[in-house]
Amino acid sequence: MMKGLLVFTALLVAVFGKETFEGHQVLRITAKDEVQLSLIRDLEEMEQLQLDFWREATDVATPVDVRVPFHSLQATKAYLEAQDIQYAIMIKDLQTVLDEEQQQMQSAARAAEPRNTDSFDYSNYHSISEIYRFQDMLVAENPNLVSKMVIGQSYEGRPLNVLKFSTGGTKRPAIWIDTGIHSREWVTQASGTWFAKKIVTDYGRDPVLTAILNKMDIFLEIVTNPDGFYYTHSSNRMWRKTRKPNPGSSCVGVDPNRNWDAGFGGPGASGSPCSETYRGPKAHSESEVKSIVDFVKSHGNIKAFISIHAYSQMLLYPYGYTRTPVKDQRELHSLAKKAITDLASLYGTRYRYGSIINTIYQASGGTIDWTYNQGIKYSYTFELRDTGRYGFILPANQIIPTASETWLALMAIMDHTSKN
Ligand SMILES: [Zn+2]
Repeated sequence: MMKGLLVFTALLVAVFGKETFEGHQVLRITAKDEVQLSLIRDLEEMEQLQLDFWREATDVATPVDVRVPFHSLQATKAYLEAQDIQYAIMIKDLQTVLDEEQQQMQSAARAAEPRNTDSFDYSNYHSISEIYRFQDMLVAENPNLVSKMVIGQSYEGRPLNVLKFSTGGTKRPAIWIDTGIHSREWVTQASGTWFAKKIVTDYGRDPVLTAILNKMDIFLEIVTNPDGFYYTHSSNRMWRKTRKPNPGSSCVGVDPNRNWDAGFGGPGASGSPCSETYRGPKAHSESEVKSIVDFVKSHGNIKAFISIHAYSQMLLYPYGYTRTPVKDQRELHSLAKKAITDLASLYGTRYRYGSIINTIYQASGGTIDWTYNQGIKYSYTFELRDTGRYGFILPANQIIPTASETWLALMAIMDHTSKN
């Protein structure tokens, strides 16, 4: 039955193009004690419900957000009500929200194609080809500051583009920033695009950024999971993983933030190909991950590594796979505090901060645990806006405010890195 439904859904997508989320709701579930929390965790194991946890169960104080397909709404709500677990409907019909997002994108795209990065529309979401064109324009306009490197290919053969911002020198100490490793977190790729423009605009004007770039290089990978990102536009807006098929399973893709060789295969990642947190058959099995691994190793002089996700407004440092604190815990903690304080100074947006395992949950095979173990001390992960009102479907009018406030936190981390 389950398999039949999957095949049928796949067929619908093949025939009609986009997967529809008509009638899907996003519920916010609040546990009042540990017993309820573990009952909510049990829901995650009920594969037939096909629930998509936007925010997983962590602790009693933090609500759980879950997308519930129409066919399992009744069963899910009945389960919660039977256990007397409180929930609220955050999004009543996901497709309505997605239709609005699509309409806005299309009306923005009807405007003339940007001829340079000044006329690029930073306040709207863009397709992968638009972002790739943006990157090429930025390089062409700023040949002495920006170049494009291709560090590998995605599973489907798309180039893995990295922008390099450099004022000279060879193998200077460097800062790495990536956005969009989880493809549905659209505000991250949009913010990455804005960061790229911000760097070329501020170099030579902002004394702090100028000092950083006179000493260090910045590498920025905006579309870190291009196959997934393409798929979020073409077929399924809610796609998170890579797009590599899994032999012996009808489910596609690996969670590229569980695929790194740091506690790989431990608790906080799934061994099931159908899970949103499937770790993959082995560490670095995904070319999107392996290409960064090879780049980081061959570069050998990366001092800060910042991997940007959404949503839930958090700034996190290692570890995720173990409770053992990192040896730089104090410094990373106080720098995180400075960064989120700077971030909040713009619009008052509040962030939580701490180690991954203490702030969210145990997660193994994560990006920044691996980079930290490679000796990159300033390894951080952001979870950008919001805290769940819109979740992954953050309205486009929040892109520039989100990017602008995040930039202040990035500057705090980059400045500290360049001075230490
Ligand atoms: Zn993510």
